[in-house]
Amino acid sequence: MAGKPRVPWDLSEIIPLSIPKGVKKLCELCEKPAHLQCTKCRLTFYCGTEHQQADWVGIHDRICQLLVPIRSPAPFYSLQADRDTHRIQTRIKQEQLVEISRAVAQSKLFEGKYMEVQPAAQFFLRCATDIFGPGVVQLVPAYLLLAESSVGLGSLSQAKRFMSAAEWVVLRSPDCGPAVRHQLHRSLGRLYTMMGNLDAALLHFANDVYYASEEYGLDNTVTCDGYFLMANVFIQKGERLIAHSLYSEVARTWHSHLTKLFESLKQNSTSLEPSFDKSQRAEVDQMLRTILEAGENNSIQNKSQIALVAHCLAMLWFLGGDPQKALEFGSRALQASQLIPHHDLTEPIQSLLQLVQTGLRPDTDTS
Ligand SMILES: [Zn+2]
Ligand SMILES: [Zn+2]
Repeated sequence: MAGKPRVPWDLSEIIPLSIPKGVKKLCELCEKPAHLQCTKCRLTFYCGTEHQQADWVGIHDRICQLLVPIRSPAPFYSLQADRDTHRIQTRIKQEQLVEISRAVAQSKLFEGKYMEVQPAAQFFLRCATDIFGPGVVQLVPAYLLLAESSVGLGSLSQAKRFMSAAEWVVLRSPDCGPAVRHQLHRSLGRLYTMMGNLDAALLHFANDVYYASEEYGLDNTVTCDGYFLMANVFIQKGERLIAHSLYSEVARTWHSHLTKLFESLKQNSTSLEPSFDKSQRAEVDQMLRTILEAGENNSIQNKSQIALVAHCLAMLWFLGGDPQKALEFGSRALQASQLIPHHDLTEPIQSLLQLVQTGLRPDTDTS
C-alpha cells in the first residue's frame, strides 16, 4: 500500500511517559530507555516517535489489543486451579501472537517491504523466546526473517549476524528437521548471492533443495523454488544452458501443481481454499515471468516451454481472480502452442480461455 503509514494518533496526542522511580521502561524496538507509550494498549513503550511509528506500521497495529491480557499484571487468584487456567490461556495467546507476527513478517518479506519486516520479526523472536526459551530451533525462522530483510535493506553485516545465530542453533540441535535446514540453506544461499559469492550460494541452494525434497518431495513447488534460485545464480555465472534446464524443471513442476488447483476449482467451483495469499502469488508471478522472458529471449526459442509457462501464468491469475491477466497470458500461451502441430496443451489452454471469457461477461459477477 502506498502513502503514509497509518498511525492511530496525532503526534500531539502522544503521552510523554512519566517513569515511576525504579521502574525502567524500554523501547519496544531498540531497548533504549523509553519516553513514550502506546496510547491504545498503554503497555508498550518507545524511545521516540520514529520507533513508535515503525513498530505500528510493522506489527503493533495488528497486535496492540492482543497484548493487553499478556502484558497486564496477572490477576490475583486464590485457587491453584484458577492460576493454572490463567497460565494455560496466556500461553495459548502467546502462541497466537507468535503465529501472527511470523505470518506478518513473512508476508512483508514476500512484498519486499524489508523495513517493515523487522519489527514483526523482532517481536516474533522475543515472543518465541519467552515461550520456548533461548537457543532453540523454534527461533530459527525468526532469525532468518531478520537476516533476509537485512539482506533486502543492503545491511549485509547485520544479515550475517542473524544468519550466524541461526546456523549456531541448527548446529547444536542434531534433531533439527529438514524443513528448518532447508530454510537455513535457502537464506544462506540468498545472502551469498547478494554478496557475490556465487559458488557458496550454489552450494547452499543445493543443500536447500536436498533438505526441501526430504521434507516435501522432489516434485514439490517448495523444492523447485530452490532450483529457480540456483538457475538465477547460473545465469549470473554465464552458464545459461544449465540455467535453462533448471528453469524447465521449475516450469514443469509449477504447471502440474497449478493444473491440479485449476481442475479442482473447475470441479467444485464454490469451495476452493485460497492456495496462496496475494504476496505469495506476486512472488510466483515474478518467478514465472522471469522464466518466460528467459525463454523468449533465448536464441533458440522453445515454443513448447513458452506455451507451458504462459499457461502457468494464465492459471495463476485465473485462480487469483484476475481475468484480464489470465486472458493476456492465456492468449500468449495459445499463440505459442498453435505453432506446434498437435500440441497437447492447445486444448487445455483453449478451455481455460473459454472459462475466462465466460467470467468476463458483464452479467456475471466477477468481484
Ligand atoms: Zn527505540
Ligand atoms: Zn499498543
